[in-house]
Amino acid sequence: MQTALAQGFFSFNHRSPEFGQCVQETVHHLKNKLSVPGDYEVFFVSSATECWEIIAQSLVQYRCLHVFNGAFGEKWWKNTRQLKAAPELIQGFTFAPEACPELPILKAKMPPHTELIALTHNETSNGTALPEGFLWELRQAFPEVLLALDATSSMAGVALPWAAGDLWFASVQKCFGLPAGLALMLASPRAMARAEAIGEKRHYNSLLALAAQARAFQTTHTPNMLGIYLLGQVMQAVAPIAQIDSLLRQRASEGYAFFEKQDFVQPLIQNPEVRSDTVLALRTREELLAKIKEEARNKNIILGNGYGDWKNTTFRVANFPAITKPEFELLQDFMVNFKK
Ligand SMILES: *Cc1c(COP(=O)(O)O)cnc(C)c1O
Repeated sequence: MQTALAQGFFSFNHRSPEFGQCVQETVHHLKNKLSVPGDYEVFFVSSATECWEIIAQSLVQYRCLHVFNGAFGEKWWKNTRQLKAAPELIQGFTFAPEACPELPILKAKMPPHTELIALTHNETSNGTALPEGFLWELRQAFPEVLLALDATSSMAGVALPWAAGDLWFASVQKCFGLPAGLALMLASPRAMARAEAIGEKRHYNSLLALAAQARAFQTTHTPNMLGIYLLGQVMQAVAPIAQIDSLLRQRASEGYAFFEKQDFVQPLIQNPEVRSDTVLALRTREELLAKIKEEARNKNIILGNGYGDWKNTTFRVANFPAITKPEFELLQDFMVNFKK
């Protein structure tokens, strides 16, 4: 922020050449560090929730299928239903948190003419993630259907199989380690071709309107300029995603192994195949939860609350890139010494 101030960045307007260059550089560093395919387009919006709305508006004419096992995926489904004139065509497919969605059942239940499948890559509410192998199988099973993935709590933390999906989005306050108020959406050429074919232009944030501006390194409205600047700086500074990915996976597996050894806290999800590497959901006895959180807070450790169905019996630990090794050690130390 001090560099931005020294460069006079705060005085640039959003149509200025200086800001256009900032957008261009941010996109460049982002695609480079996260290994995004060259032909995917990047759009800056305000939040992951806005991406839910853009996808419903601009890429679903009639029918889509939401596949979920937790609160964020369900919210997205409800949001799409509210936006559509025929909500009964916006179907939900739920699956158990301990396993991947079963492809044969999904195939059998998928309504004909489904245009898009909406998935939560990393379900922040219960600490599950969709394995890469499943996403490739899905891609192969439904080559004509657009796949949209909410990667809010995994993008910039783990390496994503970009080509297995058509739309990927995330807000920056999770794995990017940035202040809230900015999100990005990445779209494949197939997704853009579908948007063209549908031709939806009724909203300020219609995908085609975003694209027309983004191709000139601009935005439809005055965006979170400082957020975009900071994202560019952070993407320039961080290690390539392959390195961050292996560090986080290693730390997650050590974290799960550590918690499995405790007697009063256990991982919520038993199946390692579907456990998230970026959000560790941990289960404890209801009567201990408040005490754990309070004593952690006294030691300057902020534990995430449980969410949705798991509010009273779980807490969550963020395994985001900005969190350091000593901070993780502090947490383990606290757990070992916790008096029940
Ligand atoms: C945090 C989160 C959201 C909401 O993000 P906003 O920036 O508040 O819109 C959506 N989906 C998932 C999976 C999340 O973790």
